[in-house]
Amino acid sequence: MSHQFLETPIAQDANQGNDYCPFIPVFGAPAEMFDRGEGTQLWSVGGKRYLDFLSGIAVVSLGHANPVVAQAISDQANKLVHVSNFFANTVATQAAVDISQLMTDAGAGDGQVFFCNSGAEANEAAIKLARKFGGRGRHVMVTAYGSFHGRTLGALALTGQPAKHEVFQPMPEGFRYCEFGDIASLEAQLDDTVSAVMLESIQGEGGVIPADATYLQAVQRLCNERGILFIIDEVQTGFCRTGKWFGFEHAGVRPDAVTMAKGMGNGMPVGALWARRDIASVLQPGDHGSTYSGTALATSAVRAVISEMKRMGASDLAVKQGARLTAGLLQIKGIASVRGSGLLLGAQLADGIVAGDVYKLLLEKGLIVNAVNASTLRFAPPLTVSDSEIDEALSMVAEVLQ
Ligand SMILES: *Cc1c(COP(=O)(O)O)cnc(C)c1O
Repeated sequence: MSHQFLETPIAQDANQGNDYCPFIPVFGAPAEMFDRGEGTQLWSVGGKRYLDFLSGIAVVSLGHANPVVAQAISDQANKLVHVSNFFANTVATQAAVDISQLMTDAGAGDGQVFFCNSGAEANEAAIKLARKFGGRGRHVMVTAYGSFHGRTLGALALTGQPAKHEVFQPMPEGFRYCEFGDIASLEAQLDDTVSAVMLESIQGEGGVIPADATYLQAVQRLCNERGILFIIDEVQTGFCRTGKWFGFEHAGVRPDAVTMAKGMGNGMPVGALWARRDIASVLQPGDHGSTYSGTALATSAVRAVISEMKRMGASDLAVKQGARLTAGLLQIKGIASVRGSGLLLGAQLADGIVAGDVYKLLLEKGLIVNAVNASTLRFAPPLTVSDSEIDEALSMVAEVLQ
């Protein structure tokens, strides 16, 4: 029996009593309907158990229904959720201090934080930072082909995938693209209108393509020489996912600004822009904002995530379990190579194997991964994934690729 893809989530039309989909159909037909999770496991409404090796796209890094995060959110919800940015709240203030400390420890220096609700919003804030930093006439940002920076119009313009731009033309002006990993291609895009370069340390949506350390170091040198901001989008790679707190640490570079989201709230919608203090100060009161910037509720999750990741040594877990998963995948006939770092891995399938087909068969067996492109499966399980869960997932992959 093949896996039953739901046509659409179903609701009852109040007037006519007919079944209909209550969502604007921007997402493809969903493969399953879930109502409960625990750690690496998810259960569908029909009671089927799945192993989640995608974590809501590298979001639920501490596992579903993590009790520490759940307690923090629940306590905060009963205490104070939101007050607006006419006022401060103690939770967001402490969360900003926590993130600043992480960035200092990561070697990026002393900086400040702006909270928002998503990765795209963090990148929108970075665009405004870059434009204000550069000044009029020096507003252009360069990003890489194959990058992904979000779906809002500015973040989409940053995203170096021209096909995604087409139906929304005209795009905002002031964005250029270079070949990822090719320093000469970047250099060719730089002139005195460029304010910033933004790159991912590993292109996640682009197919789990890591940047070489030497490339990131060369980008940093070039940016420093020309007085251009070097911004790293750590939305997918941040918060221990790659085996360091932030992906750029593998290269030992010192970005001027960093965007983050996904893993930082374990599913609570929250993101942030961090910028070194001298650069952050170009943004002044009134230049940017969000009603929901730094709500006590969202930042209570951030604080819980940071303290829990520190307590368990989440970066080391990502390294250790990533090594186990990689070694196991490389044993399986049908997997040609494995890219990535920590627990953000792309398994390159052997010639002729279609990732989308493998994805569907794995789903039938009860393993959730993602066909990040036509020939690559992305694995991003919770960093808390156990040895036996990895072994169980590996045996399902081996059976499907037989
Ligand atoms: C997911 C992602 C984004 C967008 O984040 P949203 O929260 O979906 O807006 C931006 N950059 C990278 C690298 C991402 O992986």
